Amino acid sequence: MDYVRAASLEEALAAALRPGAAFVAGGTNLVPDILFGRKKPVLAVDISRLRELRFIEERGGRLRIGALATVTDLLESDRVREAAPPLHESAVEFAGPLVRNRATVGGNLLDASPAADLAPPLLAQDGEAELLSAEGPRTLPLASFFLGYRKTTIRPGELLTAVSLRSLGPNDRSAYQKLQLRRAMAISVVSVAAALWMEGGRCAEAGIGMGAVAPVPYRSGAAEAELRGRVVGEAEAEAAAAAARREARAIDDVRASARYRERMCEVLVRRLLRRTLGLPSPARAH
Ligand SMILES: Cc1cc2nc3c(=O)[nH]c(=O)nc-3n(C[C@H](O)[C@H](O)[C@H](O)COP(=O)(O)OP(=O)(O)OC[C@H]3O[C@@H](n4cnc5c(N)ncnc54)[C@H](O)[C@@H]3O)c2cc1C
Repeated sequence: MDYVRAASLEEALAAALRPGAAFVAGGTNLVPDILFGRKKPVLAVDISRLRELRFIEERGGRLRIGALATVTDLLESDRVREAAPPLHESAVEFAGPLVRNRATVGGNLLDASPAADLAPPLLAQDGEAELLSAEGPRTLPLASFFLGYRKTTIRPGELLTAVSLRSLGPNDRSAYQKLQLRRAMAISVVSVAAALWMEGGRCAEAGIGMGAVAPVPYRSGAAEAELRGRVVGEAEAEAAAAAARREARAIDDVRASARYRERMCEVLVRRLLRRTLGLPSPARAH
């Protein structure tokens, strides 16, 4: 395998035109994949020194995050904590400090694991991927970015430069939970991110991102439809939770059965909505 460290975006894009080339950012997925023979790139194009891809900024009501922002960058950003609390919480739960210091936002999305922890919060907040190739830039919703197990719409030689998300304000509501089999360094069994944009007491817009349920991270459109445009109380939270379960096309794997995952979709959506809306916990509801 050949290796090149790109000194500029142009150099990275030019090198990536070679068939079999792969970008490497933090290397926390790609290096183990190469070592275990799961991937065999002919050329590793190291983009880790491209400073222009490492930023967090606000633009037009959206938070833009460079593809090379690390999970530690998310954790340490006040803007992420304020405008994207579920993303911030997912960074808190992500691996340990050593991995967080190397793992990038772009690498997490491009590895396209169903359990990629940054995907549900980004999906819930209307995430968009900004892509660049020798042919030019394009932007597409993250909701249509993941095609199948470890498969995205990215084209050979194309680079993810940034993701953007719709910011949450101080009166909006959100919550995140990662269900895992131990307290730290665990792959998600199910993870859910909820974002509700409020107008008065009404939920004007809703985003529910689901991870580790199906072969791809996805938005639960059925759950969102039960919330959008409504004053959300007990009945609406229940309806959204039930819809999330009905919509789940869950997978069986070593961590959990499909049945358990479907049930957890309902439990977690209910729990997050109740928590963020200040509804009493179900045990104390009556
Ligand atoms: C011990 C350990 C614990 C982990 N814990 C977690 C966890 O809790 N949650 C979680 O979600 N993941 C976890 N991971 C997985 C991994 O750390 C993350 O997915 C990480 O975000 C990957 O980012 P990276 O920069 O290291 O990607 P890399 O390994 O550099 O790249 C991953 C893939 O993305 C491609 N790529 C990278 N950047 C770009 C780009 N800008 N444009 C186009 N293609 C690109 C690469 O070609 C490669 O195919 C863990 C990994 C390890 C080793």
